[in-house]
Amino acid sequence: MMAELRFDPAADEWVIMAHERIGRPSDFEVHQKHKPAPSWVDDCPFCPGNESLTPPELAVYCKNEDTSKWQVRVIPNKFPALNPGISAEKRFVDKYFEGVEGIGHHEVVVESPIHNEKISEMDPSDVELILKAYIDRVRVLSEREYVKSVVIFKNHGPSAGTSILHPHSQIIATPTLTNQMRKRLQVAVEYYSRMKNCLYCDINKWEHESGRRIIYEGKYFIVFNPYASHYSYETWISPIEHSSCFSNINRGGVEELSGVLPDILRRIESILGNPDYNYILHTALNRCNGDWPLHWYIQIVPRISVIGGFEIGSGTYINPTLPEDAAKSMRTYYQLKIAD
Ligand SMILES: [Zn+2]
Ligand SMILES: [Zn+2]
Repeated sequence: MMAELRFDPAADEWVIMAHERIGRPSDFEVHQKHKPAPSWVDDCPFCPGNESLTPPELAVYCKNEDTSKWQVRVIPNKFPALNPGISAEKRFVDKYFEGVEGIGHHEVVVESPIHNEKISEMDPSDVELILKAYIDRVRVLSEREYVKSVVIFKNHGPSAGTSILHPHSQIIATPTLTNQMRKRLQVAVEYYSRMKNCLYCDINKWEHESGRRIIYEGKYFIVFNPYASHYSYETWISPIEHSSCFSNINRGGVEELSGVLPDILRRIESILGNPDYNYILHTALNRCNGDWPLHWYIQIVPRISVIGGFEIGSGTYINPTLPEDAAKSMRTYYQLKIAD
């Protein structure tokens, strides 16, 4: 089959689909043999009993009334990329170069008291507490006037950017719009003024109509491998109803997402042999909701291929897996599980 170029309307970028050589799950299977890890480690800063090894917590979530045992803990990052402040002053360096003070927030969400637990293996009621922490942090950080973007992300495994096994995700609030949000907002606003429609609502509709890249469709969420996926097995969990801010998700949405997120991660781990991965929760700030013609969504990127010089030099990604093939294997896994 010939390679082809596909246009990603949300990123305003072309992607090269080079699926003629590899692309089947077996070409990627990494079969990571993690040494079986214990459920508690005496010098792990995120394990219960070691709370004094981290800065004081910003928020705690418990399973039930018993508040002596935390389930999810939000703490400032001990080595933050940005530090809280009053306002982010613009400045010019050497008269010409523009800069902004490194004001912002960098937080860690400890997702479980159990050192070796994975989200893919968690009970939905426990995942729900992680999502609640995300919702609250987006709300709280959106209140700071100098915060322009909030990015929630998870690095799972060394090639995804972390050496800490204890399940955790991170939140960074920046004093400028992130480069990606600035570009995507521009594209979405331009689309809206031209089509009088939200681009992300339309992408959901197009993916639904095609059906070939769909993994799951529920009451609140549609899950698919986007038409112009930049990465092999890149997966989006997108709200069906228009919503640009994650913290405005309703009760039913939280419940559905608490089941969908671990389920999708389980499929990826099972099909690709437990790869490292990132997920990113893209969202507008709480105060922007309604104004922005784009969606919050969760993007999952298994770290199974390496970014090379071409990507860095051209900004164009080469994806060796057709999203149609990725979606097919992810759906098949689902059917197998149902048949069990
Ligand atoms: Zn631990
Ligand atoms: Zn929309």
